[in-house]
This record gives sequence, structure tokens and C-alpha cells, in this order.
Amino acid sequence: MDRVRVRYAPSPTGYPHIGNIRTALFNWLFARHMGGSFIVRIEDTDQARKVEGAVESILDSLRWLGLDWDEGPEVGGRYGPYFQSERLDLYQRFARQLLESGQAYRCYCASERLSQMRAEMAERKEAARSYDRRCRSLSPGKAGDLESQGVPSAIRFKAPLEGQTAFQDLIRGEITFDNSELDDLVLLKSDGYPTYHLANVVDDHFMEVSHVMRADEWLSSTPRHVLLYAALGWRPPLYAHLPMILGPDKSKLSKRHGATSVVEYRDRGFLTEAMVNFLALLGWALDDKTEVMGRDELIRHFSIERISKTAAIFNQDKLQWMNGVYIRQLVEKQGHAEFARRALPFLESGLPERVKRPIDGEYVVRITPLAYERVNLLSELPARIDFFFLDELDYDAGLLVVKGMDRETAIAALRGCLQRLGGGPFDHTAIEGVMRSLAEELGLKPGPLFGLVRVAVTGRTATPPLFETMAVLGRDRCLRRLESALARLESSHAA
Ligand code: GLU
Repeated sequence: MDRVRVRYAPSPTGYPHIGNIRTALFNWLFARHMGGSFIVRIEDTDQARKVEGAVESILDSLRWLGLDWDEGPEVGGRYGPYFQSERLDLYQRFARQLLESGQAYRCYCASERLSQMRAEMAERKEAARSYDRRCRSLSPGKAGDLESQGVPSAIRFKAPLEGQTAFQDLIRGEITFDNSELDDLVLLKSDGYPTYHLANVVDDHFMEVSHVMRADEWLSSTPRHVLLYAALGWRPPLYAHLPMILGPDKSKLSKRHGATSVVEYRDRGFLTEAMVNFLALLGWALDDKTEVMGRDELIRHFSIERISKTAAIFNQDKLQWMNGVYIRQLVEKQGHAEFARRALPFLESGLPERVKRPIDGEYVVRITPLAYERVNLLSELPARIDFFFLDELDYDAGLLVVKGMDRETAIAALRGCLQRLGGGPFDHTAIEGVMRSLAEELGLKPGPLFGLVRVAVTGRTATPPLFETMAVLGRDRCLRRLESALARLESSHAA
């Protein structure tokens, strides 16, 4: 096989979503598996649909997922430029060549005429066709007149009127289209800009792209591309059209299913590792059981043969579960400091405003070991551990009257804690020892006592392990909170 060169060719018409980036990932995995090149080409010839900031967001998404590109924006390469808007001469040259060889023609129809034509076709219930080929048979004299009147013209491809066009799709096998279904598509618009079809074919040829792996929605464009390659005397690349991605309800994937722009996943606290693994399984699988696979494993095993023909289902719950798995893995493999480092930005943005900034990173490294096992998203962390950072806890005094203990006993228990925790070591074993002997002394069961202290020092009934939590909070904070709990109980009528 020739050298593998694949490309991700996004149009900057919006922020990349799950489907777009899955295409990028499959191309990247294939390139890395084959030791080939991964190219990023920006298809920005549709000036009207360009969105400000879209290119940045495309590149940011790729960077976040670690999909490095060998050629393209920022890195350049031998086959550049990699923005189509900087390659207009090339497209114009080949549109003219097709015109001169009689495989294309000038079309002078104004857009008003085309809209009217389509409306009439719809009325007659004819198959929707974008053009009735009126200018295909224009006499040279008539064309000359229009030219001399300065009527603007587009260049259209002369598609064959009969026969069939077939190609091999590496995923779906042989695909055949009747030429009678194809239009005379516009290659070059009257403003000198190419259409997607012309630019895409010219660039894939000149960039020596070996495999075109793209979304299923482009399948019907492929016979047109194949015809264009033939008209230009070029060899087409190999094609692989990726299966659609559907929501769990089997309808086309949309925001409704939780599928938003890729950078939003980053901002919601998904880890790159989980996202890459999850996306890789949207239409590809190693076998029918392996789910958790790191980047290196994915590269090692990726193959076009194992891409599925049927639609993939996007399941947000699975993504969240997988993210939890990767959080645990991250801690095991890279340690708490790395987890805390990744969590820090989420704490900076997610903790209540009254918490002093910047957040103390060293304190965070002591807290996160107590919490990481229960979070599936980094963004869940602030709400789980905010009590570690607050000066004043906000909770209902009623919570202090835990089951199995009345108000008077609770007051006595808090006083006992205050006395005994004031001195001596303050690590979790020491704290536990003090609390257990206090329970015995007061004739209390440990459970209710610990429950009371938990509310007093954290303001909640469910938290990470109590004694570890107290040790991290530190003696001063714990004593202050116990005092404040005592004051609340004394002034309340909860009993
Ligand atoms: N610019 C097209 C897109 O945004 C590229 C399609 C292709 O890969 O040929 O999907």
C-alpha cells in the first residue's frame, strides 16, 4: 500500500461536536496505527457559513484530546497551505481545465431562476434536482451574448446522463449510484470560490490523501467525487464512510441527548483519556467485551475492518461511568498530586465565591484522596468538598439532633469533644481513639456520636471518612466548628 495519509477536513461553521471529533479520532488512530500522516485541513470556502472562533475551537478540541497533527494549521507542511481559502487559484485552474476539455460548462442562471425552478419541480412532484441543465445546451452564440452583457456565471460539472458510478467503500463494500440521480453540480461559484466538491477533490489529490474516512452523510457525494477524479485523470483515494451516531432513542444525535461541543465536555470535567476511549467505541470495537482501552492500546488495535456498518449509540451514562474509571486509574497510576492538579481549576471555578482565592493547592492534595473515589466528573468535586474551604458552615441546627441522641446529650457530647480534642496528637487514629473513649464515658453508642460530630464539622450527614476528614480540616477549624455547633444547639429549641 502507498504511504498512509489521512485528513480531518472540518468546515469552520461551528464548534466541533461529538460526531465531528469522532471522525478526527478515527483518522488519527488509523494514521498512528499505520505509521502514516494525519493532516488537518480547514475547508473554509463557504464564506457565508463561517463562524468566528470556530477554527480555534476545532484546534483546541484536537489539542485537548491529544490528537496531534503532522501537517495543517500552525504546524504547516509540504502540501500547504492548509486553509482552502488560501488555495483559490488551484481550484480555479482545474475548473477552467474541465471547461476547456468540455467536461464542464458555464451556467448563467441567476439564483432567483434556480429557486423558481425548484419550486416548480416540487409542484410537479418531480424528484428534487438542484438544476435542470438549461445552460448545458446553450449555443456558443447565446453564451457569448451573456458574457458580453457581463452576466455572472458559475462553472458546472457535466455529469454523465446515464450509466452507473460505483466505488468500493472499505466499510460498506461496493456502492453503486445511477448517474441519472446525479446533478450537474457547481464546481466554481460566480464569485470565484469553489464548492466543497471541487475543493475537496483537488486537495485530496494534491495532498496525496490515501484514505478518506468521513461521516456517512457524505456517502452520496462520493460518486460525484469519483466522477470528478476520472474527469481530471486522477486516481481517487480509498473511501471509508463512518457509521452514524444516534442517541439512545435511536434518533439522530443532538443536544437533547447531552451531546454538545467537545470543549464543553472538557469544561464539565471529563478527562481526555476517558473521552478518547469513549469516542473510539462509537462505531469501532476490539471485540464484544473490551471497553476500557488506553490510547496506546487503541493505536495498537485500531483497524478499518473493525469499524461497524451499523449506527453507533451515544450513551452519556456510559461516558460518565468511564470517566469515573479513568479518574480512579489516574490516581492509581499517576498519584494524588496529579489528580489534584487536574481538579484545581474546577475548584477555582466551582467553589462558592466567598472562599478565598487562589485555592491552596497543597491543601487540595490532602483533601482529594478522601473524595476521588466517589466522583465521576471533576466538576462534581466542588460541591462534595466545599466544607473543607468554608469559614462558616451553613446548615440547619436540627441536623445536630441525630437519631439515638437527644438535645441535652448532644450538648454534653459536644462539650466532651471540645475538652478532649483541644490537645494531643490530631491525626485520624488519635481522633478516633478520643472519640471512642468519649462514647464509652458518656455511655453512648459510637454511631450517633460520630454522626453528631460529622454534622458539626462538615454541616452534612454524608461525607468522606470522618476522622480523616477531621485530620485534614485541622484542630483549629474542627474546634471552631464544634463550638459553633454547640452554640446552635444551646440556642435552638430543636428538642
Ligand atoms: N468539510 C467537510 C465536513 O466538514 C469534510 C467532508 C470530508 O471529509 O470530505 O464534514
